Amino acid sequence: MIWAWPGRRCLPTMRNGYMNKERENRAGSRTGGIAVGIDIGGTNFRIGAVSRDGQVDHFEKISSQVLCGPGEAVELLEEQIRSFLERHSLEDRTLAVGIGFPSPVDAAKEVVYNCPNLQNENGGFDGRNVVRFLEDRLKLPVFINKDANNLLQYEIAVHGWKGKGITIGIYYGTGIGNSVYLEDHFLGGKHGTACDLGHIPFYLSDRYCTCGNRGCAECYASGHVLRDIWQENWPGEEFPLIFKNHSSDRPVQEFLEAMAIPMASEINIFDPDRVVVGGGVIEMEGFPEEAFWDYVYEFTRKPCPGRDFDVVHASREPGAGTAGSAFYAFEQLEKIEK
Ligand SMILES: [Zn+2]
Repeated sequence: MIWAWPGRRCLPTMRNGYMNKERENRAGSRTGGIAVGIDIGGTNFRIGAVSRDGQVDHFEKISSQVLCGPGEAVELLEEQIRSFLERHSLEDRTLAVGIGFPSPVDAAKEVVYNCPNLQNENGGFDGRNVVRFLEDRLKLPVFINKDANNLLQYEIAVHGWKGKGITIGIYYGTGIGNSVYLEDHFLGGKHGTACDLGHIPFYLSDRYCTCGNRGCAECYASGHVLRDIWQENWPGEEFPLIFKNHSSDRPVQEFLEAMAIPMASEINIFDPDRVVVGGGVIEMEGFPEEAFWDYVYEFTRKPCPGRDFDVVHASREPGAGTAGSAFYAFEQLEKIEK
């Protein structure tokens, strides 16, 4: 997969203090350096070596369960990165590591707050200063972000949307991922937890969310809820065919309406130029896209924003998340250099 990062003004360098002269010499010219991009989902762990011009090499996808074994999750992650570098002889070419987590991270972009889908006996990554640990062990600059930001970062780079209005990204997967890009930066918030759209509350709910709160949107409009609907109504059929076989049935219609509520809410708040929509639920066979958008348009404010925004499907490139994570790492290196 090759694509160009648009609008680059200068080449990034290593974070001060991490790269001695000998290592710099071994790395050869700066243009040969790569960033390791990592996209950690609730189901899969994706890793690749990404060049500055966006080429992803040595892309690998394995189960995220490799991070949920006994011990400390950060140490398991370190082992995965280290073995990837060794396997592909990348130690001397690697300038940085960029990682996307299925969790909010703190405003300083060092601590992972809460990954309910990546748990082990020690609480997984929850509350861990991943950056400090990995930088100390790997002797490389490490940059973390929530996964939705890195996924949207990829789209912004590919489409050249930087400086072109408001872009929102909503990803319906195991949970609901969300990211908001305002002209030239992501909306982060005081604690770094802005745009947690899956956890806006629904009215009069008696359901409890994995986050501990009552009535979150994810209790009604996420992949695990869709599985519950399948098991309750059509357990004898294949789950991946639920939309193909039952889109007009009431449980699925209610699910679509629940998906539309957070989407329409965010559109009404931000009046965006464009909406990027993706995730495993949207990509399932027979997903009734028209019915979904009919619900969204029912709830968006008239006359504006109404229907006046572009809808863009998220890229289905398997390396999009890894490329986005690497792009984020390159961009942060560039900021440090200035
Ligand atoms: Zn919640």
